[in-house]
Amino acid sequence: MNKNVVIIGAGVAGVNAATKLVDNNFDGNITIIDMGKDPYLRPYEEVMTGYLGAGGWSDGKLTYSTQIGGQLSKYVGDEKAMELMKQVVDNFSRFHPHPEQIILSSPDKEPDFIKPYFGLRLFPVWHIGTDYLHEIGKSWYDYLVSKGVKFHWETKVSDINFHKQVVFCNKDNHHSYDKLIFGVGKSGIDFTSNIMQKYNLPTEEKPAQVGVRFEAPQEHFQKLIDVAYDFKLYRKMDNVSLRSFCTNNNAAYVAVEETYGDHSYNGHAKKDESFRNNMTNFGILMEIKGIDKPFKWARELVGKVQENSTGLFYSPTREPSITSEGIDVSATKINNLDVVKDAFQGYYKYIEDFINDMKKVFPTLKDDWGIYIPEIKYLAPEPLVNYKDLSLTKYPNVHFVGDALSARGISVSGAHGTLVAEQILEDQKEINDFLEWADKPGPWSEEDDKIHTVGGLTNDKDKSFMKFQDKIDKKERKSYLEGEIYNKRNDGYVKEGLEKELKKMNNEKS
Ligand SMILES: Cc1cc2nc3c(=O)[nH]c(=O)nc-3n(C[C@H](O)[C@H](O)[C@H](O)COP(=O)(O)OP(=O)(O)OC[C@H]3O[C@@H](n4cnc5c(N)ncnc54)[C@H](O)[C@@H]3O)c2cc1C
Repeated sequence: MNKNVVIIGAGVAGVNAATKLVDNNFDGNITIIDMGKDPYLRPYEEVMTGYLGAGGWSDGKLTYSTQIGGQLSKYVGDEKAMELMKQVVDNFSRFHPHPEQIILSSPDKEPDFIKPYFGLRLFPVWHIGTDYLHEIGKSWYDYLVSKGVKFHWETKVSDINFHKQVVFCNKDNHHSYDKLIFGVGKSGIDFTSNIMQKYNLPTEEKPAQVGVRFEAPQEHFQKLIDVAYDFKLYRKMDNVSLRSFCTNNNAAYVAVEETYGDHSYNGHAKKDESFRNNMTNFGILMEIKGIDKPFKWARELVGKVQENSTGLFYSPTREPSITSEGIDVSATKINNLDVVKDAFQGYYKYIEDFINDMKKVFPTLKDDWGIYIPEIKYLAPEPLVNYKDLSLTKYPNVHFVGDALSARGISVSGAHGTLVAEQILEDQKEINDFLEWADKPGPWSEEDDKIHTVGGLTNDKDKSFMKFQDKIDKKERKSYLEGEIYNKRNDGYVKEGLEKELKKMNNEKS
């Protein structure tokens, strides 16, 4: 039974999962636990926690492409990935107070002037804007509450017992679940690693992604922004690839993120004209292959570029900017890049080349730029999941979603949640269909029914309970086999025998 669905994290993934469930009249209980605040109480400075999570206070750029949602295609294939992301985009426009104002940037041609130095990734992006996200959050929240979803705010989950199926919270309370959706995002990255360690979950290692947040007046990049609002410049060398990441324009602000107690940088843009500062910012991120223990390496790097309990700022000419709330972006200004070059262990030269080549492509740029160090995407080792429904291979009623599963982005995170909800609905439908069938009057008279089926079991003349049990066993075995074969693991799991067994089961009359 899937009657009690508990979702940890009211972020993009959790909220989309709940929406899919209630939209489809899920007849169980849905509980969402979040350490942040509801959308009416959430203050501006709480960037990562609360309703819609990091997505709620982000720039609201919804990318719509499998080119950058690689992890999603890996699980469900390109076509399904696009369909799931579309559902997320639709949810954002459905709760938007002015959906007609959502801007779609969909470049279809790589401009010649960048070609000698960079490639440009072209894909559609819906730009919703931070300001509207707050309003979207409120109506979306009201909708879920009206559909009976129970929220527990300012409640931090401190432990989970996967065997007893219980979630423990800091407020001395606990919640039992049949299905658990684990969507704690980046703000829950420590908690995720604790749980993964505690249950010794098998993982897949990921390459490191580190770099800087680059900032400059927008005029230097206008020619490219006119082609693609959220442009993605990229270049690839043997073991290093670089890309510009998450571009913000017009009213573009640098945001501090705190992960593992260290500061790193990201950016967001405001939609309201009153916030316009005519700046552009984006990450310049490197993915480096072949580093031993990339996660540990990246964490150490971030630790080395902290000074006065915050990150660093370097510019040949500029000062750190102010946030949208009018306070200085927290960063320690440095006059040379020695400490940065040391921390990046030789890899900083790729970022330096990237910036130098941007100066050639955008000739007015010259020294009119600054960088905030570091920007980091912790691609923490990802728990191994069944691709069909993102459930843990060891605990099939626990589903990892969103950034907790290295989604990196709003549309992909939301798509994870939607996928899991679809599977829960599917399973529930099969169980309901079966129970309906089992509840139908048997071949005996109503009188016999009363006498012979006390508690549904005694004197079960037609052995319907055993049939039920047998069917459930077979269903579980079948879904296990399908998962193993579909995931095509290379670690020896996929055996001819599995395929033969599945074929046999499929041929058997149920
Ligand atoms: C400043 C900024 C700008 C961004 N801009 C964009 C953008 O424009 N486009 C884009 O695609 N992506 C953007 N992102 C990334 C995007 O927001 C995330 O990828 C996405 O929100 C991840 O969704 P999620 O549901 O996995 O996690 P989140 O949305 O981060 O939600 C996780 C939730 O879990 C809760 N939580 C964590 N630990 C616990 C716990 N132990 N107990 C209870 N609750 C817990 C948190 O409070 C949070 O609400 C941005 C991120 C930031 C920080």
